[in-house]
Amino acid sequence: MSRKIQIAIDGPASAGKSTVAKILAQKLNYIYCDTGAMYRALTLSALNEKVNLSDEVALMNLLNATKITFRQLDDGQHVYLNDQDVTQEIRQNNVTNSVSEVSSFKEVRKEMVKRQQDFCYSDCIVMDGRDIGTVVLPNADIKIFLEASVEERAERRFKENQAKGIPTDFETLKMEIKNRDHYDSTRENSPLIQAEDAILVDTTGLNIEQVVKKIEFIINKKTLA
Ligand code: C5P
Repeated sequence: MSRKIQIAIDGPASAGKSTVAKILAQKLNYIYCDTGAMYRALTLSALNEKVNLSDEVALMNLLNATKITFRQLDDGQHVYLNDQDVTQEIRQNNVTNSVSEVSSFKEVRKEMVKRQQDFCYSDCIVMDGRDIGTVVLPNADIKIFLEASVEERAERRFKENQAKGIPTDFETLKMEIKNRDHYDSTRENSPLIQAEDAILVDTTGLNIEQVVKKIEFIINKKTLA
């Protein structure tokens, strides 16, 4: 592919966004930015520092003093909070169940969006999240909205947890995914919504390779048109 493009991938929790985004970034040799990891890193820091999660000013003070970076290692991309590797910790349940509150604040989002846009200096990027096509990269060349039934998303996460040996109750997991989607879609500030010019890709019943193929087809159609 000769022209460098920006790819925005949005969608609800556990729709496979980051898995697909990572594969595409690797294939295209683009930078990958996991914006959810940035909100998760701030949430982890707030929990560690015992900052009140409903206090926007306190969260902003913390964020302004917090460096969140990514580094590409042999086993994939790692996330750092003030130079400490928090790749695993940010996936813990307490972070997952608190991140939507932290990400709902206007000033927090403004600062995160600024950092995410700075990250795109080279213009060659695959970025995934909730507001990428609508707010962070409104001019992205390709916008994908990844969907899947909540049942299937919960099943995928359940199997992942089982493989990692994390004890999980399926119904609780499904309820947590539903709650997070509800919170993220109904918040006042840049809620999760499909951009008007985004292409909906329903991944229900598809495996990762099939989803990647679908998106590659969309990219080729757009960039070769
Ligand atoms: O993508 P992931 O599930 O890791 O995102 C964690 C949380 O971060 C989401 O549930 C949402 O509250 C928040 N988020 C967001 N905007 C983004 C990415 C994530 O609000 N662009």
